[in-house]
Amino acid sequence: RRRCALCPGCAIIGKIFGERPAQTMRDQFGRTIDYMRLSITDRCNLRCRYCMPNGVQPLPHGDILSYEELLQVAATAVTLGITRFKVTGGEPLVRRGCVDFVRRLKALPGVEQVTLTTNGLLLAPLAGELAALGLDGVNISLDAADRRSYAAITGFDGLDAVRAGIDAALAAGLKTKLNCVLLAGCEDRLVPLARYAEARPIDVRFIEVMPIGAGAAQPGPGRDAALALLRAAWPNLHPVQERRGNGPARYYAADGLTGRIGFIDAVSHKFCARCNRVRLTSTGQLKPCLCYEAAADLRAVLRGNPDALTQTLRQAVFQKPRAHCFEDRTAITERRGMSQIGG
Ligand code: SAM
Ligand code: SF4
Repeated sequence: RRRCALCPGCAIIGKIFGERPAQTMRDQFGRTIDYMRLSITDRCNLRCRYCMPNGVQPLPHGDILSYEELLQVAATAVTLGITRFKVTGGEPLVRRGCVDFVRRLKALPGVEQVTLTTNGLLLAPLAGELAALGLDGVNISLDAADRRSYAAITGFDGLDAVRAGIDAALAAGLKTKLNCVLLAGCEDRLVPLARYAEARPIDVRFIEVMPIGAGAAQPGPGRDAALALLRAAWPNLHPVQERRGNGPARYYAADGLTGRIGFIDAVSHKFCARCNRVRLTSTGQLKPCLCYEAAADLRAVLRGNPDALTQTLRQAVFQKPRAHCFEDRTAITERRGMSQIGG
């Protein structure tokens, strides 16, 4: 049963007005937008060198959307056809109440899928509960399979905790993907990371560094270079036409791999024509495209004129730009870092 979009916590209005059919929302270029990344915090317990090497000035709590406000946005988005959500951050698990928020998001009528992106440090004790409440999958960031490199990249000697998080996610039956950013000098790290897909049903995805935030100063290898290195270990690594999530990753299989190897190659192989998403920052800015600063201020709408939420959301989606402009740095207007956007 769908509930009132303005008050997701209340079942009574939903009962009065009954089910509202979900719509399909298309942008000005005809792309269907059905997926939203929800950043619930700008804070993080790591300092990944391509993301927030020096931390960020933490925002006052009042600047961050409350869980109720986030649910209000999600409930409205659902009525417009956005039915799949990724909870992200900063590090989402550092915000108190994250698991309960996931539970409430998952329970919103019309929500078809909720997944979580995390650095995995705090995941081990929570994985069972997240699986039990119906989380549909977890993406865990892991940029190195050895302790020394992991600490050098993230600023924290936390590899054992992340490994425990991965084990716990699998043991709980969560669909698990690893995300590794293709950093300069990562060549020796790729095969050890890909080995996570060997014996267990884990997809390992390699992400090209996007020129956003600290990543702008840290270009790394692209998909083709990474593929060549991986083929030295798995010569028959070959593309498969499988859809394994909501994203643009292209997947490869090989003899000897249980999981898949994926690439998110936004820089070398633009996939904007297939883009299906919008992003909500923790401060309530709805971003139609990663590359541009332009955003709809949903926090102002939520706090000043909540009746306008549906229309504002619809308008922001419609105005989604045709494509990113990573190839032309002078055209990138986004100044926030990835931890402030949600990745
Ligand atoms: N803290 C969580 C984590 O690390 O998974 C969630 C937030 S993080 C910003 C989301 C994703 O963005 C991570 O997989 C991270 O590796 C990726 N990321 C951060 N900066 C990036 C950049 N400049 N280019 C590509 N990916 C980036
Ligand atoms: Fe934190 Fe994730 Fe950014 Fe690393 S990538 S600093 S874990 S937000």
